[in-house]
Amino acid sequence: MGNVQSLECRECGKEYAPTFRYVCDECFGPLEVKYDLASIKVTRETFAGRAKNLWRYFELLPLGEKSRIVDLGAGYTPLHKAERLAKRLGLKNLYIKNDTVNPTFSFKDRPASVAVSKAIELGLSAVGSPSTGNLAAATAAHAARAGLPCYIFIPWDIEPTKVVQAATYGAEIVAIKGTYDDANKLATQAGELYNIGIVNVNLRPYYVEGSKTLGFEVCEQLNWDAPDHVIVPTGSGALLCAIGRGFTEFETVGLIKENRVKITSAQPYGCSPIVDAIKQGTDAINPVEKPNTIAKSLAIGEPGDGVYAARTVHQTKGFGENCTDEEIVDAIKLLASTEGIFTEPGGAVSIAVLKKLVNAGKTNADETVVCYVTGNGLKTPEVVAAPSTKPVAVDPKIEVLAQIIRR
Ligand SMILES: *Cc1c(COP(=O)(O)O)cnc(C)c1O
Ligand SMILES: [Zn+2]
Repeated sequence: MGNVQSLECRECGKEYAPTFRYVCDECFGPLEVKYDLASIKVTRETFAGRAKNLWRYFELLPLGEKSRIVDLGAGYTPLHKAERLAKRLGLKNLYIKNDTVNPTFSFKDRPASVAVSKAIELGLSAVGSPSTGNLAAATAAHAARAGLPCYIFIPWDIEPTKVVQAATYGAEIVAIKGTYDDANKLATQAGELYNIGIVNVNLRPYYVEGSKTLGFEVCEQLNWDAPDHVIVPTGSGALLCAIGRGFTEFETVGLIKENRVKITSAQPYGCSPIVDAIKQGTDAINPVEKPNTIAKSLAIGEPGDGVYAARTVHQTKGFGENCTDEEIVDAIKLLASTEGIFTEPGGAVSIAVLKKLVNAGKTNADETVVCYVTGNGLKTPEVVAAPSTKPVAVDPKIEVLAQIIRR
């Protein structure tokens, strides 16, 4: 079983053998992977010669055998020093963790790679997921790589490009007349009835481990140091919690000296149950019945990890902040035009929220800030394809350039 000790209930602490299960029999709490961290012997040199993908951290991932890895090259994405954007905002040490360049163009390749690998190890014969869009493609691509059938459950109104992408990888698409939360419930039932590995439901304890690598990589890329502050786009809250554990596990096994990171949750106004709780100083989540935002990747009204995400933010002394659709579009354009990185709305909320924190005086110019930018703008061109961005055609004559070229 590699270094996994057990699956532990996040509510009552009861431990189970690490098999195909995800809820506690005693209290129905969610289970999470517990490692025997004290016995894991890794040093910075352990990773030096390894492939530049998320599996370089194999000792801290929940797989028994390397032969089961289903890999398309997810992870070890660039940590981009954002000097022009930093200057614009009045910061000095700003980085973008650019997860737009993963194999299917979002961070979801990380948890999907781990979950589909685990499905192989557990001997499952099909996988699937409910998705707000990006997970559909990530699960479908890794299922294709593994040769497993794949079933995707999506709300009918997600971005068309994301559906085309998942379907092209060969997945069966089930479009639901309803919200993400309805799709989630149907996928959960399908997993039970047909013994399908639903990556973010019944494989969730293993799935979420893939996203920890977004914490690990940032430390390694900052020359084995944790940043002061990270800003995380938040839907279900799983990503935020996983990044938090990435930093604490690296501290526990001695790969970084001190973990002082503040973790901030960023959500759109049209669906911000976690940020609302954080702002009220609580971890009690009020579900949003009808999410309404262009950041469809984050439109999860009943966030599975909401309580834990709010706690992580409170414990690390981070912030919760939300932004409007207009602020999201502005942030997409700002990031693209200052740094050359084109993100979808879900990824841009971290930039929009950073701008608001700076304006509110909640950042300090010298701190090291990392914005997680989690998905690619080519998946959602419609949000920025306003008439004003359509090129005006001109004759191919040098004279016309006199009106165009700036000098
Ligand atoms: C899924 C997703 C998120 C949020 O992840 P959660 O684990 O649901 O909080 C953020 N950004 C993008 C682009 C996503 O696809
Ligand atoms: Zn329990």
